[in-house]
Amino acid sequence: MNAEVVIIGAGAVGCASAYFLARAGMKVTVLERDSVASHASGMAFGALNPLEGIPEPLAPIAQEGLRLHRELAETLRDETGVDTEFQHHPAFTVALGEQEERRLRSRLPWLKAQPGFQVEWHSGKELRAREPRLTPRVVGGYVTEPVGLVDPYRYTLALLQAAERRGATVRHGTARGLRFNGERVVGVAVGQEEVPCQAVVIAMGPWTGAASEWLSMPLPVEPLKGENLRLRVDAPPLPHISWGQGGCVSRPDGLITVGSTQERAGFDETPTAAGRNIMLERVVEVLPYLAAAQLVRHTACLRPVTPDGLLYLGLVPGKAGVVVATGAGRKGILYSPVVGQIVAELVAEGHTSWDISAFSLDRAVGEFPELPRPAAARE
Ligand SMILES: Cc1cc2nc3c(=O)[nH]c(=O)nc-3n(C[C@H](O)[C@H](O)[C@H](O)COP(=O)(O)OP(=O)(O)OC[C@H]3O[C@@H](n4cnc5c(N)ncnc54)[C@H](O)[C@@H]3O)c2cc1C
Repeated sequence: MNAEVVIIGAGAVGCASAYFLARAGMKVTVLERDSVASHASGMAFGALNPLEGIPEPLAPIAQEGLRLHRELAETLRDETGVDTEFQHHPAFTVALGEQEERRLRSRLPWLKAQPGFQVEWHSGKELRAREPRLTPRVVGGYVTEPVGLVDPYRYTLALLQAAERRGATVRHGTARGLRFNGERVVGVAVGQEEVPCQAVVIAMGPWTGAASEWLSMPLPVEPLKGENLRLRVDAPPLPHISWGQGGCVSRPDGLITVGSTQERAGFDETPTAAGRNIMLERVVEVLPYLAAAQLVRHTACLRPVTPDGLLYLGLVPGKAGVVVATGAGRKGILYSPVVGQIVAELVAEGHTSWDISAFSLDRAVGEFPELPRPAAARE
């Protein structure tokens, strides 16, 4: 097998890269040791909110990511028949106490200054007029419109299928190293074999650290475990509601996704009773009617995080033809279409129209911040 570009990892980042590279006419092989979207990219919450939890250097990528998701929902449906279940909806961000209310209010000037979004503050009473199932303990909050929601598994699968329709191939196997001719990459070691290539994209998510040795450079990427629940309840759908300790939303299949915990637990992807209990307690605190809901699914997966919370994205210095694309943390579904486009530009043209200097591979990233275990996170 002879590929121009080998992409290691069939998560959202690898599949978006494959799609945009195939669209640029490159011959692509996607190498995956498990199956497409079998980790975080298939199990994420799927929220696409570019105004929450985004470090400043990533704001343009987040906003363009939402726009591209909207566009891809149509393109990918036309190209593959797969519906990514993208939808726009309002997002309620609510405060359960005065301290949280102050924190949310302090964000309003920035939120209101973001073009393309409407953000309005409401009292607790006004919020309950829009969503009567909210607890009387909600003292206020804001509603952001429009933000997005996507089914991350369908989205990642659709990208890969669309890439395959443009000639990409998928190969099952574990990358064990790279072979160089001088400075240029010429092959990927897969088991006892080698896949010859002219370029490699390392999109290995939380497992990217393994490539440090192949590239003789530190790539401190760690797994940040997260758990989600799916609930069934016989009641009308819920909008996206988030609070300091998590969030929930109704999906097109009628189930409610509740998320998410965050915990350092190495590469363990096992759902835990502690994670389940913390999410159930919190969602019932905000929406008491959900005490009657049935738990139908409980998943855990790993976010790829860097110590400073920014991407690793760029060509590897001194290793011609190698691109690293990872570190998307809690927002990789949102960022992935733009990251895929940037990867395609880097591989095909050797540069990108985006300013990616904040994501350089040899920047000083400091130490990983401490985390309580398990804490809840709003995606
Ligand atoms: C609970 C939870 C909720 C989330 N919610 C959201 C959300 O609402 N919105 C959002 O935008 N993001 C969300 N995220 C984050 C998002 O899921 C991740 O940032 C994103 O999926 C990372 O994609 P990736 O392609 O980098 O990595 P992954 O999806 O982990 O894919 C990497 C792939 O590489 C493969 N691989 C690794 N090493 C090798 C090797 N040596 N050879 C071959 N294959 C290899 C792995 O098997 C894997 O399939 C959430 C994450 C979690 C955990």
